[in-house]
Amino acid sequence: MLELTIRFYEELNDFLPRDRRKREFRVELRQPSSVKDLIESLGVPHVEVDLILVDGRSVGFDHLIEGGERISVYPVFESIDITEVQHLRPRPLRKPRFVLDVHLGWLARRLRLLGFDCLYEREADDRRLAELSSRQDRILLTRDRGLLKRKQVTRGYCVRSTDPAEQIPELMDRLELRRWVRPFGRCPVCNGELDEVPAEQVAGEVPPESYRHFDRFWRCRDCQQVYWKGSHVEEIEEWLEGL
Ligand SMILES: [Zn+2]
Repeated sequence: MLELTIRFYEELNDFLPRDRRKREFRVELRQPSSVKDLIESLGVPHVEVDLILVDGRSVGFDHLIEGGERISVYPVFESIDITEVQHLRPRPLRKPRFVLDVHLGWLARRLRLLGFDCLYEREADDRRLAELSSRQDRILLTRDRGLLKRKQVTRGYCVRSTDPAEQIPELMDRLELRRWVRPFGRCPVCNGELDEVPAEQVAGEVPPESYRHFDRFWRCRDCQQVYWKGSHVEEIEEWLEGL
């Protein structure tokens, strides 16, 4: 048996059982293995890791663990003041774009309303999701850790919260999305971009009561659907201001 000690930092602890969180613990290995396989065997998807120190030296995912090492693992979004280290994640995207797993339809619609480019296909299987993420440089959002272990996926995030209302705040914090929010940026149905249009242009398409009550309207460039600020949007805006 090979033995080593390892510690995970910050939100990577979300993936560990309680007795292994925020502390160093011992791990036994039957045979030498890559540090990527070691980390994932402990339940942490590699896409969430940005920096691995083995005996104080930064290493890549394929670094071979042979026993006796002391390993520290840091997350993507933790700002660490160490220069000259080997960051494992690609540079952050200039403007984040997403592809969402099939069980996150609600989240996709909300993110689109906040202006984020979100691919969502109800029938997409794991292979398709990984491929879209890698080919189009999109962050893969899922609650399925197995999916994030695929080698092809280099940008991904495991959504921790199961409560839809808490998922948006979680993403804003963890992925630092706030500065990108553009309310009424995209169509929640088809992901097309929305343009604000003068009220006269939509007079026949909006129920009279809404037409009287609201003065700003948007139209989807792709599916032509017209939107106005219903109560659910006011709710989002209130929440954003609250931050
Ligand atoms: Zn649309």
